[in-house]
Amino acid sequence: MIKKFIRKVLGLKAAGPQRVPRAKHTIERNRISPAALKVCGVLHEAGFSAYVVGGAVRDLLLGATPKDYDVATNARPEQIKPLFRRALLIGRRFRIVHVIINQDTVEVSTFRAAESADAQKDEHGRVLRDNVFGTQEEDALRRDFSVNALYYDPATEEVIDFHEGLSDLKKRTMRVIGDPATRYREDPVRMLRAVRLAAKLGLSIEAGSRAPIKKMAPLIGNVPPARLFDEMLKLLMSGHASACVRRLRDEGLSQGLLPLLDVILDQPLGERFVTLALAQTDERVKTDRPVSPAFLFASLLWHEVLASSKAREKKGERPMLALEAAMDEVLETQCEKLAITRKLTATMREVWGMQPRFEQRSGQRPYRLIESPRFRMAYDFLALRAASGEVPEELEIWWRSFQFADDETRRAMLQPENGPKPRRRRRRKKPAEGSSEPAGAPPAEMAD
Ligand code: ATP
Ligand code: MG
Repeated sequence: MIKKFIRKVLGLKAAGPQRVPRAKHTIERNRISPAALKVCGVLHEAGFSAYVVGGAVRDLLLGATPKDYDVATNARPEQIKPLFRRALLIGRRFRIVHVIINQDTVEVSTFRAAESADAQKDEHGRVLRDNVFGTQEEDALRRDFSVNALYYDPATEEVIDFHEGLSDLKKRTMRVIGDPATRYREDPVRMLRAVRLAAKLGLSIEAGSRAPIKKMAPLIGNVPPARLFDEMLKLLMSGHASACVRRLRDEGLSQGLLPLLDVILDQPLGERFVTLALAQTDERVKTDRPVSPAFLFASLLWHEVLASSKAREKKGERPMLALEAAMDEVLETQCEKLAITRKLTATMREVWGMQPRFEQRSGQRPYRLIESPRFRMAYDFLALRAASGEVPEELEIWWRSFQFADDETRRAMLQPENGPKPRRRRRRKKPAEGSSEPAGAPPAEMAD
């Protein structure tokens, strides 16, 4: 203890790692993925050292099931690849090897050196390149939190602890390795990781690691939007999205992330909607049911779209055009910070764009709507709107029945056509066209 104190005062590094034998930790070898064990075994046989590292060790020690397995080794990527039948070299910035065994992919990376003072950085101090190989000790030092810097050696069944990660795990706390402000500046995503992992694992963030977050939160704005999107997706799909979002707000991190999340959460209707969407997602993740990121992002941003669309309608824009313009505006604002992929935004638009069509319950329109490939998702979205009190529950119940009803019941459910058909009026204005639309077709801007 005294030695440790003196070392701390003198700014010296701890003297070597702590090697914890099997009898003194709780990881059972047979709970580790066979693929990860195999990878370590093959590397050992080839004369290299290899450890399960990072989140998997942390989760196993906490009694949780790891999401994925990472292996760290002193072998170089070009030495790793030929040892396995199915192995892919990936990553431009830092090459790692994905080894595929049966259905599992194990991420194998060579020990990496910590960010050095002369690493290439942007004007805010964010490290742009850190692709220098290093020793195991250096590899531990460049990891973000002490609980993420634990190595498990399947050969000896020892846990190797360089930064008192085991003691932090016992205290159920996340502590940044090194100076927190410096580490956040090097990579602001670490602040999001702190919140996500703490919420997911029910850990606290140690006071010193927590303190700089509020002030440094704006640095998140300099993170490339594609990386931010990946991290946000991890957070929302973690099965603990509600807790994560709450904690993001508490730590002052929500603003730069989904720029208008605060605004949404401050609206009574919007808050209910977002809360329900997140709770539903968490429930699905926990029960191993599929979750659609498009649906989730569409939910998070729906009240932004609604607000903008209503404002436009007030100014006299026609409803469908107002909705289109609102979708453009909201997605443009969001994608500046968070690169939501095109595939996702296309689906989000479809789901949003279909919502007004649920109001139309006469003629052929309901039949066409249920034929749409996105009907299921759009209907689930409607159900969420109804549950949050935005649209009458009766509307959702109608569609719930209509989609499963037989022909006769459907016919009886249809509402009478009302009001003049807008198509007629338009046609009178353009008599030269002569083309006749099929009976019951929706106005042009309503069509798929
Ligand atoms: P999970 O997989 O449960 O989301 P994880 O901690 O395993 O959590 P990964 O993204 O799989 O997260 O990263 C694996 C390991 O790589 C981490 O445990 C940590 O040691 C290290 N790491 C990941 N991201 C960073 C970062 N931004 N800075 C420093 N080290 C990192
Ligand atoms: Mg992981």
